[in-house]
Amino acid sequence: MRPLVSALAALVVLAVGGCGRAGGDPGASGGTEVIAAFYPLEFVATEIVGRNATVTNLSPPGVEPHDLELAPDQVRSLAQADLIVYIGEGFQPAVEDVIDELSRTRMVDALDAQDELIEAGAADPHIWLDPMRLASVGNVIAREMADIDAGNADVYRDNAADLASVLIELDEEYSAALEDCDRNELVVSHEAFGYLTERYGLEQVGVSGIDPESEPSPGRVAEVAEFAREHGVTTIFFEEQVAPDIAQVIADEIGARVEVLDPLEFKPEGDSDYLDVMRSNLDSISAALGCNRP
Ligand SMILES: [Zn+2]
Repeated sequence: MRPLVSALAALVVLAVGGCGRAGGDPGASGGTEVIAAFYPLEFVATEIVGRNATVTNLSPPGVEPHDLELAPDQVRSLAQADLIVYIGEGFQPAVEDVIDELSRTRMVDALDAQDELIEAGAADPHIWLDPMRLASVGNVIAREMADIDAGNADVYRDNAADLASVLIELDEEYSAALEDCDRNELVVSHEAFGYLTERYGLEQVGVSGIDPESEPSPGRVAEVAEFAREHGVTTIFFEEQVAPDIAQVIADEIGARVEVLDPLEFKPEGDSDYLDVMRSNLDSISAALGCNRP
């Protein structure tokens, strides 16, 4: 790992030195370039910058953003970016290795925009599944953009306010829909919904932990099945991109069904965006928990 990091660092130095942008004036070399580490951050950054910058998503379609690996041209693009929006504390170590070498690039770590994080061994990265936490990331991006491009500072501030009001509306829909439910236990394969369940007074029970690739022990599977049976859980949620095997095992054991709940780590298909997926997740959650919709 270390020799690779040194090679990347050398590339970064070359890229920074080579493009003559050490003076820190992004306008001089053309448009402002923002890099977002994966989809929800791309969504927020795009809403904030509007037409005043280009936003690139570092995680290619279909690539699981946990533990993302970087291609050399992505390392170069990070070195040339005006602003990088990412999630730190080990969510994507390859991204952090590169940005540690960049002294002049502006960065937003979406976890720094949060009041408090859920710590389960490591910091839980999945802040984007709480609309209010995502709104605070928008505010921080707007402040950075106002420094980079002072002439449009008002635009960024207005865009952040617009995004916040859309996310507040989503938050109110969640609060209302989840207020009166028969159950409050959300059983999921990938433990991505900790901030969502925290905000709306639900309890997340995860099988595989925070990282979707980690294999749960048979003991953990049995424990979750037992919990689900005791609490009359009707639905075991899994994510589309990961095989539903474990969720299916538990569902079969307790006579529940499996259903998809999207942790929004990938760009949604077609025209749908963050807001659409959050609303369809809300429908699935409120149906599974037997909520009386207002
Ligand atoms: Zn995740």
